[in-house]
Amino acid sequence: MAERSLRGTNLSWLSFESDEGVTFSERTITRYVCPDGHISELPFSVEAEIPSLWECRCGLDAKLVDGPEPEVKATKPQRTHWDMLLERRSIPELEELLEERLDLLRTSRGEKPRKRTA
Ligand SMILES: [Zn+2]
Repeated sequence: MAERSLRGTNLSWLSFESDEGVTFSERTITRYVCPDGHISELPFSVEAEIPSLWECRCGLDAKLVDGPEPEVKATKPQRTHWDMLLERRSIPELEELLEERLDLLRTSRGEKPRKRTA
């Protein structure tokens, strides 16, 4: 019994130490330097995604010191609907579909469907 209450005391002491109260997450000090040489030090949770740029107190963009290169993910071009379509259909298939739709359109306008040479 005595041991249990002691452990409980210890736990509450730990939670008082942490800024966040109950859950304590490990932090890392991240350093940024702006073009004017100002250094900003910020504590980030180790689980947090650390930005490669931070706005300095002078308003300039401060760069992460010894940081990893900006993620490739960020520069990867976004997939368009067209890209996704191309993953499912080949160009000849799409041409055929387009031709079909155009024929329907022409018919609805009273035009004669064009004979395809292919
Ligand atoms: Zn600055």
